Amino acid sequence: MTIAAPVSGQCAQHPGVSAAWACQRCGSFVCSACERRTRPDAPPLCPKCWELRAQAVHQQEKTESKRLQVGGLLVGGLSFLHPLIMVGSLVINIRELVRGTGGERRWMNAVGLSLTGLAILTWAGFIAFAVLHR
Ligand SMILES: [Zn+2]
Ligand SMILES: [Zn+2]
Repeated sequence: MTIAAPVSGQCAQHPGVSAAWACQRCGSFVCSACERRTRPDAPPLCPKCWELRAQAVHQQEKTESKRLQVGGLLVGGLSFLHPLIMVGSLVINIRELVRGTGGERRWMNAVGLSLTGLAILTWAGFIAFAVLHR
């Protein structure tokens, strides 16, 4: 959906410049120099709303990242219980480490991964022991 600005509208940031659009979120007028879009065919946002949107997206990423880090550490520790948890831990921790959005909490994924490595060795040891002493 696109809301076209009235012909008489002026850009909220540039007085005297006629607006090409109304911001999709707050409705303030934006000229073609001010409009911000996520995609070329997306409805335009004003610079202020664009800024807010970017912050919201960033915040969301940080929250998700934090959850994956604490989760990664947890499943890393639980890897000793079951091989399936081990696989899950590898997926979560490696993905999060590669993505690298974690900042200072990345150690959680590193520790989670180390614990999983330890768990794999432990399980391999058990299996080898079981095979050799049949
Ligand atoms: Zn706006
Ligand atoms: Zn403008």
